[in-house]
Amino acid sequence: MKLNEITLDNPYLSLPSECYDRVKPSPLNKPFLIHANRNIASILDIGTDQLDTEEFVSFVNGVLPLSGFDSFAMCYAGHQFGHFVPRLGDGRAINIGTINRQHMQLKGAGQTKYSRSGDGRAVLRSSIREYLMSEAMHGLGIETTRALAIIGSEHKVFRELWEMGSVVLRVSPSWVRFGTFEYFAHKKLYKELEALADYAISESYPHLQDKQDKYILFFAEVVKKTAALMANWQAVGFNHGVMNTDNMSIAGLTIDYGPFAFLDAYDSGYICNHTDRGGRYSFGNQPAVGEWNLRALMMALAPLVKLERLNEVLEDYAQLYTDAYMKLMREKIGLDKSSNDDISLIEYLFGTLQGLAVDYTEFFRTLSKYDGDRKNLLSLGLYHKPMNEWLDSYDERLELNSYTQAQRKINMLQINPKYVLKNYMLQEAIDAADNGDYSIVGQLFDIAQDPYSEHKEHERWSKATPEQHRNQKLSCSS
Ligand code: AMP
Ligand code: MG
Repeated sequence: MKLNEITLDNPYLSLPSECYDRVKPSPLNKPFLIHANRNIASILDIGTDQLDTEEFVSFVNGVLPLSGFDSFAMCYAGHQFGHFVPRLGDGRAINIGTINRQHMQLKGAGQTKYSRSGDGRAVLRSSIREYLMSEAMHGLGIETTRALAIIGSEHKVFRELWEMGSVVLRVSPSWVRFGTFEYFAHKKLYKELEALADYAISESYPHLQDKQDKYILFFAEVVKKTAALMANWQAVGFNHGVMNTDNMSIAGLTIDYGPFAFLDAYDSGYICNHTDRGGRYSFGNQPAVGEWNLRALMMALAPLVKLERLNEVLEDYAQLYTDAYMKLMREKIGLDKSSNDDISLIEYLFGTLQGLAVDYTEFFRTLSKYDGDRKNLLSLGLYHKPMNEWLDSYDERLELNSYTQAQRKINMLQINPKYVLKNYMLQEAIDAADNGDYSIVGQLFDIAQDPYSEHKEHERWSKATPEQHRNQKLSCSS
């Protein structure tokens, strides 16, 4: 399809007007394309021949006149670091409509009613991070919002310094957040709350639409999805950094990429967000915060369903999380059936990795190729003894496996990525982009889409993070 043939849909605008505010994007000056995602273009039925046209840049800049264009910002509340903020909303993301049930948002397209003191803009470095990272999560098989394209401009945006203004056109099957429900519950707008629940069900859980108990079943699905998402984050070593309830997706997706990080050396207490002084959103706390956030959602849904019933559903979270996590961890260490001692073997492993400061991703990739020769694994840590002792237990456990070492290797290489986009890699892409060179953005994008393949030319990025870049914290400013 050509861009001028697009007809946009706006199902969210059928909700009560309290849910959104109509606002037009404020375009960037002299915009230019940095990168476009062909896979997303095909999901949206946009011809790949359209991606290098001037019209495409105008589209991402929010100024291409399209049939059905009716842009708006969504209203929501949220618990930020445990404190309730009654009104947040899209302060810099403007929804421009839906194609094939994918909702498109321009992040950084200017102020909205919900901008508070913010400028409604996004700077290049944070846009590059979100653009690449959302694709990387998808490449790893983790549910996430995605992005069609990123543009730069001559627009100057002030953070600590003047920086380049940029827009990411991001897409998602849902942009509804836990905090969207909290907004209406807090304002006691129960009709709107119910309309929102019906909307979220039709958008993300359509199989529940005609069920009698649809709201309780809806909550049960969100609990299950959130538990699965947390298990995926923990297994791959992803620290989100700002797990406020306004950054939690009702569809169980990873949303709102800020000061996130992949683990470098394994550290369960790692905190990627430097404003998070107490470590509320540390790596190891994420599964518990997932539950805390679900409890906030539960309170918001209480006007629609009996609280006791919601609470019963929430009680399943811990088991759902543990089951999902253990399944992934068994796959990561190549166990083909479960045994009661697996939790202790895995906890023992994490104690070993933490003590030895071993790179999380490199360890599992190296373990995938383990055939009894310990040399490569031992060389990852500072001392040999703890790793040798864990490997003794592992060797014993492998004897219960029914598949061969060769099969184990094939399976493990499919779940243990060779590459994750660590922050130092993203920073290399950003530093080059600041000098007008977008080639590393392209290279990381290719790796992001296919993190299990060898990519021999990028071997250095598969190794432990260089020491000076390990386990750093990032600022929220974006
Ligand atoms: P975040 O931490 O990115 O999830 O953002 C929290 C809230 O602040 C959301 O309501 C955002 O829309 C809003 N926000 C963040 N940055 C800006 C900005 N530069 N201008 C306006 N609103 C912003
Ligand atoms: Mg947010």
